[in-house]
Amino acid sequence: MDSGRFLLGPELAGFESELEKYLGIDYVLGVNSGTDALILSLKALGLGPNDEVITTPFTFFATVEAIVQAGAKPILADIEPDTLCLSLSACETAITEHTKAILLVHVFGNCTDIERFVKLCQKHNLFLIEDTCQAIGSTWKGKKLGTFGHISTFSFYPTKNLAALGDAGAIATTDPDIADRIKLLRNHGINPQGRHTLWGYKSLLDEIQAAFLKTKLKRLDIENARRRKLAGRYDNAFENIVQIVQGQKGCKSTYHQYAILTPKRNELCSFLAENGVETGRYYENPIHREPVFAGTNLRLPVAEKASQAILTLPIRPSLTDSEQERVISLIRGFFEHHD
Ligand SMILES: *Cc1c(COP(=O)(O)O)cnc(C)c1O
Repeated sequence: MDSGRFLLGPELAGFESELEKYLGIDYVLGVNSGTDALILSLKALGLGPNDEVITTPFTFFATVEAIVQAGAKPILADIEPDTLCLSLSACETAITEHTKAILLVHVFGNCTDIERFVKLCQKHNLFLIEDTCQAIGSTWKGKKLGTFGHISTFSFYPTKNLAALGDAGAIATTDPDIADRIKLLRNHGINPQGRHTLWGYKSLLDEIQAAFLKTKLKRLDIENARRRKLAGRYDNAFENIVQIVQGQKGCKSTYHQYAILTPKRNELCSFLAENGVETGRYYENPIHREPVFAGTNLRLPVAEKASQAILTLPIRPSLTDSEQERVISLIRGFFEHHD
């Protein structure tokens, strides 16, 4: 506060360069939120009217909303039944002459075989965009998610694995031209000479949030390791009881959510709530079932089925061993009586 520098100062530059090192990528640019990161990314790639972007219905609303806000057309394709990530074959089927990009979402911190998407995009000359808002620190065969596509987005919303004390987000890319465009787009198109070179926008990650994030980034691996430990215990406890949502072999998840699929979802959810255990139903409405899509008759059966069966369990790093043991014994007890 003494510095009097609240925007576009040394804290932001410091956080951006720490995150570049952490991810192993050339450029990270802070913006106001994960939602803005998506919108500005699509704009930086030059996407707009008549351009189709294929993405998943099983995500947070912002993923699809950003495509619409950027002026392009979202095309929803179905997901894989085990990872709940976008299905490669469904994407392939959805490609048309208007397709410009595939927008992957590493939902819950998990991913599918991303190298196959890289190849598919090369083959059809498409941009690959990674919505990494739920997957900071996750890897595919040892390489961080958010470093495979042309551009990737991060959210530091207070519930995310790396959390700001308010709104914040970032864009990562290996392409210097894209990075330059993002710098213009996030600040009214102003170039280093102070001239407005394009119709930009205003979306900044402020110095105070950047300072918090730079400090909290140092603890991210410790917290993600704790999430993995909790997830491993759930895996062992539920192996033969329910279907566990997991990344494809090769994915090391950071478990933004730990999700199970069970046809007894509603009963289990109420039973846990009665016992003081808070769970989530992400995403009990796939995006094509939201009122904004009223009138379209899109059927995406895998996503629809998953939405009926999904339940996410407590996995915050501060969950204690004994709290987790209680959750496990409640769930095991529930299935002993409901078989
Ligand atoms: C949180 C999230 C966003 C949006 O991030 P905000 O910072 O809340 O705007 C976008 N996509 C996914 C998958 C998210 O989980």
